[in-house]
Formats: sequence, C-alpha cells, structure tokens
Amino acid sequence: MSTLVYLGLGSNLSDPCAQLEQAIHSLEMLPDCQILKCSSFYRSRPMGPQDQPEYINAIVSLETNLQAESLLDALQAIEQRQGRVRDRHWGARTLDLDILLYGDEVIDTDRLSVPHPGLHKREFVLYPLYELAPDLMVPGRGSIASLYQHCDANGIERLEACV
Ligand code: ATP
Ligand code: CA
Ligand code: CA
Repeated sequence: MSTLVYLGLGSNLSDPCAQLEQAIHSLEMLPDCQILKCSSFYRSRPMGPQDQPEYINAIVSLETNLQAESLLDALQAIEQRQGRVRDRHWGARTLDLDILLYGDEVIDTDRLSVPHPGLHKREFVLYPLYELAPDLMVPGRGSIASLYQHCDANGIERLEACV
C-alpha cells in the first residue's frame, strides 16, 4: 500500500537553490518512493534567530511504500550527506527535510509528529502547499485553502527562476 506524502524542503546556506535541487535529485533516487510534483521555489524570512540568511523553500509530493520512520531515516541521511550541522535551534542549515503530511495519518512518537506541528502557521509551508494541492485537507486543521487565506505572507516571494 503506498502513501501520499508531502515533504517540506528548506535551505539558507551554500547556494540554497542548488541544495534544494540536489535534495530533489536524491529523493528521486530513494527506493520505494516516486516523486509526483514539486512546487515553485519560494524565498522566505528566517524563523527564530534573525541573524541568518533568507531561506529558499519548496514542497515535494511523493508516493512511498516506506513506513514514516523509515522515510525520516532516509531524509536525515540526505540532510547529512548535504552537510547539515545541528547547532542552535532554528539556526542556519544547508538542508532541512520535514515530513509535513503522511497520508491522512496522525503520528505522535518520540521522533515524529505528523502533521508537522508548524505546518498550519508557517507561510513558507502554506504557500507552496496551496500551490501544489489547493484541495488538500490537513488532519485536525481543516482545509489548506482556509489556512492559506488566513496566513500572514511575512514577505514570502515566489521565485520565477532560481538565481
Ligand atoms: P521544526 O521541526 O520546528 O521545523 P527543525 O526542522 O529545525 O524545526 P530539526 O532539528 O530538523 O528541527 O529536527 C529535530 C527533530 O524533529 C528530528 O530529529 C526529528 O526526529 C523530529 N521530527 C518530529 N516530527 C518531524 C517531522 N514531521 N518531520 C521531520 N522531523 C520531525
Ligand atoms: Ca523544519
Ligand atoms: Ca527538520
């Protein structure tokens, strides 16, 4: 049984657009995963510490036969390969890969909270997610359309091309 998953991608170090493109390539190579769609790239303000560069964000949808925790293992391996260093909370990073939605499942374990706890309040998630799936329902949070319409843009910008 395959599951429809939405992943959030973010980077603000070492050529963020290239980091996202490399990550999408790595996702294409994952076993038991099939990428369906990728959103535009967006430029957004950093969350948390403000003394860091702006972010580039995007969202990918994929079908997978992997269990959610196995998918998280694979995503963390990709983050590591792209030089992710964890220092301060919400600090700068070469690559962040979050599981936003895993089908319509609600998961709450030590390693995994799904839907992602920030999904419904982050413009850099809601803008690309609405672009990709305007009819989506978020378990426990209602329609993506309503979340998107009520969300503060916070200066987010859709990029025509990555420069
Ligand atoms: P945020 O989760 O608020 O976006 P972050 O992405 O900077 O912050 P990380 O340091 O990348 O946080 O991840 C910390 C931990 O979050 C991971 O080790 C992972 O176990 C856990 N986690 C919980 N839910 C999820 C999820 N839905 N997707 C990815 N990681 C998750
Ligand atoms: Ca994140
Ligand atoms: Ca993360």
